[in-house]
Amino acid sequence: MTTRTPFIAGNWKMNLDHLQSIAFVQKLAWSLKDAKLDYGTVEVAIFPPFTDLRSVQTLISADKLPLKFGGQDVSAHDSGAYTGEISGAFLKALDCEYVIIGHSERRTLHHETDEKLAAKVAAAITHGLVPVLCVGETAEDLEKHGPSAVPVAQLRGALASVKTGANIVVAYEPVWAIGSGQAATPAQAEQVAAQLRATLAEIIGEEAASATRILYGGSVKAVNIAGFMREANVDGALVGGASLDLAEFSSIAQFQKHVGT
Ligand code: PEP
Repeated sequence: MTTRTPFIAGNWKMNLDHLQSIAFVQKLAWSLKDAKLDYGTVEVAIFPPFTDLRSVQTLISADKLPLKFGGQDVSAHDSGAYTGEISGAFLKALDCEYVIIGHSERRTLHHETDEKLAAKVAAAITHGLVPVLCVGETAEDLEKHGPSAVPVAQLRGALASVKTGANIVVAYEPVWAIGSGQAATPAQAEQVAAQLRATLAEIIGEEAASATRILYGGSVKAVNIAGFMREANVDGALVGGASLDLAEFSSIAQFQKHVGT
């Protein structure tokens, strides 16, 4: 079990419009309040589409909800002629605390390279956002190079310019496990998370590495979260599909109830 504050994050991808986001966040907050979730022992964050962020910010701020939120991507640029892009400054102005960078869908569908992701990580940090950097191997990578080589290389690439002591979150998301219903085993996740932490120590220093939350992502559900959370180097989960199901996501956030069973 982790000694860091666990982090349960929901990546909504391109789902739920701003009106649906308000209803969802309200119900999630009620569900976790009913369950008497102690937010001092777990951080719960959602990553809605950009167009929902203002509504989510307004609701969370007005109702003083103890939920965190962030963007699903950020521009490497601060401002200017970059049609369609969203600056870290804009996300910060909406009270985003986190931003997902390097999700496998962006690496694959938008051809985001490690170099580009390094620029996005730098931009996020410049604007006071905590990057949630996603790394993970495909099934082919796994067969050719084993589980850790590609995620470790992606980590080094995207953190090329970060300084000692940087505050980041890393999400280990094997591509073959995302949306497939076939999660990694807790032991597989732990093995890669330990390698990532050792690599982080070289990049940002021992102290920052031991404070960094490393999440597992890929077909996480209420039924399998406890196994991951029992591992020493897994500090939470980045949840895709199940984060759109209120009962599932609420139950995942309450993983402490399942861990001892
Ligand atoms: C994701 O897309 O980040 C993810 C982990 O998806 P899922 O939970 O649906 O596998």
